[in-house]
Amino acid sequence: MSRQPNLFDLPPEPTPWERAAEEDRLVAAIVINRPVDTVFHYLVPQELRDLIQPGQRVRVPFGKGDQPTVGYCVDVTPTAPTSKRLKTVLEILDREPLLSRPMLELTRWIGERYLCSWGQVLESVVPAGVKKQAGTREIVCYEAAHELQNGLDALSLPAKQKRILDVLLHAGEPLAVDELSRRADCGTGPIRTLREKRLIIPVKRRTTPSAIDIGPVTIETDLNLNADQQHVLGEILKLIREGRHETVLLHGVTGSGKTEVYIQAIREVVSYGKQAIVLVPEISLTPQTIRRFRSRFPSVAVLHSHLSDAERHAQWQRIAEGEVQVIVGARSAIFAPCPHLGLIIIDEEHETTFKQQTSPRYHAREVARERARVEKIPLILGSATPTLESLLRARRKHEMLLSLPRRVEQRPLPPVVVVDTRNDPHVTRGESIGRAMRVAIGAALQDKGQVILFLNLRGYSPVLWCGRCGKGIQCPDCDITLTWHQDRKRAVCHSCDYETAAPEVCPGCGMPGLKYLGTGTQRLEKEVEAKFPDARVLRMDSDSMKKPGSHDKALDAFRHGEIDILLGTQMIAKGLDFPNVTLVGVINADTLLHQPDLRSAERTFQLIAQVAGRTGRGKRGGRVLVQSASPDEPVIQKAAKHDYLGFANLELQHRKDMLAPPFTHLARIIFRGPEESIVQAEARRVADLFKERAKGLPERVRILGPAPAPILKLKKHYRYHLQLSSETLPPLQMLWRLVQKEVTLEGGVEFIIDVDPLDMR
Ligand code: ADP
Ligand code: ZN
Repeated sequence: MSRQPNLFDLPPEPTPWERAAEEDRLVAAIVINRPVDTVFHYLVPQELRDLIQPGQRVRVPFGKGDQPTVGYCVDVTPTAPTSKRLKTVLEILDREPLLSRPMLELTRWIGERYLCSWGQVLESVVPAGVKKQAGTREIVCYEAAHELQNGLDALSLPAKQKRILDVLLHAGEPLAVDELSRRADCGTGPIRTLREKRLIIPVKRRTTPSAIDIGPVTIETDLNLNADQQHVLGEILKLIREGRHETVLLHGVTGSGKTEVYIQAIREVVSYGKQAIVLVPEISLTPQTIRRFRSRFPSVAVLHSHLSDAERHAQWQRIAEGEVQVIVGARSAIFAPCPHLGLIIIDEEHETTFKQQTSPRYHAREVARERARVEKIPLILGSATPTLESLLRARRKHEMLLSLPRRVEQRPLPPVVVVDTRNDPHVTRGESIGRAMRVAIGAALQDKGQVILFLNLRGYSPVLWCGRCGKGIQCPDCDITLTWHQDRKRAVCHSCDYETAAPEVCPGCGMPGLKYLGTGTQRLEKEVEAKFPDARVLRMDSDSMKKPGSHDKALDAFRHGEIDILLGTQMIAKGLDFPNVTLVGVINADTLLHQPDLRSAERTFQLIAQVAGRTGRGKRGGRVLVQSASPDEPVIQKAAKHDYLGFANLELQHRKDMLAPPFTHLARIIFRGPEESIVQAEARRVADLFKERAKGLPERVRILGPAPAPILKLKKHYRYHLQLSSETLPPLQMLWRLVQKEVTLEGGVEFIIDVDPLDMR
């Protein structure tokens, strides 16, 4: 019997069938590797329900034509937040999640902090070798048919076949043919027969990537810490034992034994069955550092940029399975998938290589802070010259500030002498080694000491100069003068690697006889060889150290005393520890100082402190000679006195007066495109919008520009930039989101944002 519907009736109860369908609905939240902030929702079809997990990649229909597109599953829930009809997940690409839940959260945080999409972050965080499962293959394995799980008694089979089933039922996992025939002690015939009878079922499995052979290592005992080190370690151990998150800024002069403190802090963490991540600059990932960790812990994974895809995948898996105690690596090692992280250490925290220069432009230190906060573990930032960012933050937030003010074993810091080169007859003649430097090198060699000479420029000569035009020869694609490389007889652009043969005449006016101005490491090498003909000289820069392994070989030769003078770029300024180096010479301290960069003074201080750290490490002591044409600059004076805090306080005051970081946050917006006039016009148009939208914000945002970027043209693209600054980050983030949604750029122009930029070129 039917009755009229009544307004006050409740909606009819869903039928059992309808309810089942409703409850059965499983929705996957998916993000895509595109610059869109949205999290998309897709229905999970019946056959994928038991397989889908957050952290896997999936294929989904996306965009206008429902193009099958790879996305990352970030969540799986029974209901979607929208009532819209949902599209369906097509396929799951990974058997296991590539990322755990906490790592998914961390990548989301990065997207919000650095203003790029969650999908883009995920795409860049998971190594290509892991996505490809490099180094593994798919093989066919066998498992016993389902109905055999209750026993074989009912079956009458030949003995061999019975044995095979018996092995499979007890193995607990599918077995490959060769393994199965070995364990059951039979040939492949009976296996084939069982397969035909459908008593065993083929399943596909992946082989595990083979581990990297690191050769034999002997484990050494830890050193006895001195009183300063013990104090620092004690404070760190308190945090570890309390299971508390805190950031510790460890200011320790070069050679003060920071690394030994790290090692003993890690020892505590490892004793709880937890893991530690140690981030070092790529350049410090020398065999020396690696040996040091490997000689203390039985299981260390090293992640550097020279790993093959298969090696990286193997390391990633070992780490994820908790087999690795210590992960030592460059920037991206902060994403190591440790199941029970206990400690993060960033050594040389002032190094700019911790900031990624392509999207997502994250800083590993900030990511480490967030990861440590979420995992409730300590983070140690160590440096002889902490960044002003870290110092100010430690002071303001009352984070733990620890120091190791002395070198170990009463070794003194080396005396640093600044030599004024303005009136030096050699230098004014165009040579690089002034009188005092020449005498010092001679004396060091006489005493059988080794010498390190530092010059911040590779190549032979940075400017090929025409006397008539008064111009240097420029890269056709970049706004940069070409550097002459004498060894290859080519003029090279250090930005895009464009190179050309020696111009006989000036391309501008046809005048012959171009002059080579300025000095790079190649020219310095020639000069050193001419001035010290008996010395064995080795040049280390990215040109001379292209071959894999050449870096290690060179350092070994130097260590074994086969080289007297080592000269080179940044490559030799970091982390090296050679007791026989009695002289370090800085050829020109001013190259960094006069860069148009707000951190030029800070970088100059760091550099002098770091190179000074390369000497006086042995019993013989050592000294440092710094050539400068501006010897009275406060930064050079403070560096010569090893006065970090003096410098830091001075520079902090200066930054405060200028409303510059670390007192403010910057965001740099770069517009680039092939036509300068269009780039400029678009930059102006968007800048106006930024200025307009900034008015509505609760906090003041200062906007500078648009202006041509210091390097106007780079790789055929013209560049204009806009600088936003504000006391805190949220208004900058808010402003970008507002404007990004509103703007469509024209004429092939694109814009990117760099939050807390380090590179201002
Ligand atoms: P940092 O990392 O601060 O530059 P290191 O940890 O590399 O310093 O130590 C510098 C040198 O001193 C290394 O050769 C190290 O083996 C040694 N060293 C460190 N701590 C001690 C100690 N307590 N006793 C003796 N030598 C030490
Ligand atoms: Zn170029």
